[in-house]
Parts: sequence; structure tokens; C-alpha cells
Amino acid sequence: MNSTFPESATSTPQPDTGLPPLHLLIAAPRGFCAGVDRAIEIVERAIDRYGAPVYVRHEIVHNRFVVDSLKAKGAVFVEELDEVPDGKPVVFSAHGVPKVVPVAATERGLDWLDATCPLVSKVHRQAERKVEAGRHILFVGHRGHPEVIGTMGQVPEGAMTLVETVDEVAKLDIPADKPLAFLTQTTLSVDDTAEIVAALKARFPSIVGPRAEDICYATSNRQAAVKAIAPRCQLVLVIGAPNSSNSLRLVEVAEREGANARLIQRASEIDPAWLEGVETLGLTAGASAPEVLVREVVARLGEWRQVAEEPITTAEEHMVFKLPRQLIG
Ligand code: SF4
Repeated sequence: MNSTFPESATSTPQPDTGLPPLHLLIAAPRGFCAGVDRAIEIVERAIDRYGAPVYVRHEIVHNRFVVDSLKAKGAVFVEELDEVPDGKPVVFSAHGVPKVVPVAATERGLDWLDATCPLVSKVHRQAERKVEAGRHILFVGHRGHPEVIGTMGQVPEGAMTLVETVDEVAKLDIPADKPLAFLTQTTLSVDDTAEIVAALKARFPSIVGPRAEDICYATSNRQAAVKAIAPRCQLVLVIGAPNSSNSLRLVEVAEREGANARLIQRASEIDPAWLEGVETLGLTAGASAPEVLVREVVARLGEWRQVAEEPITTAEEHMVFKLPRQLIG
């Protein structure tokens, strides 16, 4: 892990409450992915290099704890480029931005740094290539998510159509002979996306697309880990923000596996009543949630019950992404 978020800040107290012990299955992989690590490190290094304030367009990653920690170090978060004063450096968030944004930053002479996850940038380049090859793109994603806005903004207006559901595939008004390609958002449900892609291939047999969907390794791995623990749990807690796509998908995956699941941002949101009748609890964290929040939850649970932790690891992750050239050395 490269950024300066502590991995562990607390230990688990063990009260004698008379209640049965809580068996805690902790999913791995969980929490920060390589793209989030890189994005946070870009902001931290930019503050070191340029001095505060460094502006960040949109939440660098969808996590309030991360955003507040970076604010304390000198980052200023804005939604649009015109909120960045002249002469100040600006970082674009991990979700990616439409092409017009860096163009406008360059025209204004701003120093800008791109924290777009390289796996999102890869989808951007694929989109450009498919359009250059004369294909219309059907993009599987969630309307309004910044990654979707950024990816759709890589190609001329009208060159890409967003598809959110299997039903929408059936309703597409596209001539059968139009050359088509599909691409996907990186943080989708693996299972839902497979269904949508299958529907696209059934409706448009000559559609082309990536060999595997563009759902990233971190999203797939976190979903697989939750699938492994959820059937054994009465309740699964997912640490993540309500606007974090990959965290919301983890809640859905747990529910599909038959567990109750709740999205929480911090340990303070846990209602002890949720634990009534729960013998086995699952715990995971979305890709933008730091490990310190996982330990905070474990510590909180330990205030109410004796906690027996069992890590369940379904994959090892060793991905590291390079920093932008301007910040190396
Ligand atoms: S969740 Fe995936 S696409 Fe998003 S930042 Fe992490 S590695 Fe990149």
C-alpha cells in the first residue's frame, strides 16, 4: 500500500457480556485497490510538490474519510474546473473525466494531474478506437456515475449509447446492420453484467467487445470474496459510501447469496440491534474504503460481543500502478 492511510489503528477489546461470541468472517481482498492507492498518492505528492492548496475535481475517490483526510493535508475539492483559481494545480479524480476537461485546463494554463485509474483509461482508449473503426458503442454502466460521464466524454456526442439493464437492451432502437461494439464500466456487478452482455450478443450477434468485460480485477475479486463468506453469514456489513458503485455492488452480491447486508460508512452507524440473533457476521470494504475503517468496525463490535475473527482470502492482489511522470523523482 503506497498512500499514508494507516492499515490498523485499534485492537479488539473482548468484553464478557454473557452474549454468544460473534464469529466474524473478514473478506479478502477488501478495501483499497491499486487505482485508489495511486489516486490518493497523487494528491499527497502534489501537495508536497506544489504546496497547499491543491485542487481536486470531484471526490478523488468516493469515501468521506479519505476526502476529509486529504482536506486536512491541503486538498480543496471542487466539482467543476471553473471553481479552480488561475495558477493553482488541479488533480482529476480516479473515475476519469471527459476529454474536454484536460483540454480546458491546458487552455487556462493550469498544472493538472490525471489520477484516472489506468484501468478506466484503458476503457477510454478502447472507446476511441472502436469509434475510429466506425462502430457505435453500447456502454454498460450506471447513468450519472462520474466514470460513465468520463467514458462517454471520450467520444463525440451520439457515438455511445448507455445501457443499464437487460430490459433496456430489448428496447434499443438500433438498426440490425449497424456496426456495434460494447464496453463496460469497471465497477459493475459481475453477474448482472454477464446477463446484459449475453442479451447484447443475442440481440446483435455481430457486436464486438473485449474478451472479458472491463470490470476491473479489484471489483471482481471483492465480489468473489463476498460470495465466499455471505452464505455462512446472517448479516454482512459493507464499508463504503452510498455513491461508491463497487461498494453498492458488494451489498447486492451478499443479498443474492441470502445474507442480510448493510452499507455503512463508519462504525458509529452500526445499530447494536442489527446483531440480535447474529452468530456469524461478514465484513468487507469497497475499493475506496481504507483498512483503518475495517479495524474501527471490528473494535466497535468488540464493545458488544466477544469477537472471533476469521479472515477468508479468495485471491491475492499485487497490482501497483505507476504515478504520472510529473510526480516521479
Ligand atoms: S475499483 Fe478498479 S477501476 Fe476503480 S480505481 Fe480501483 S482498480 Fe481502478
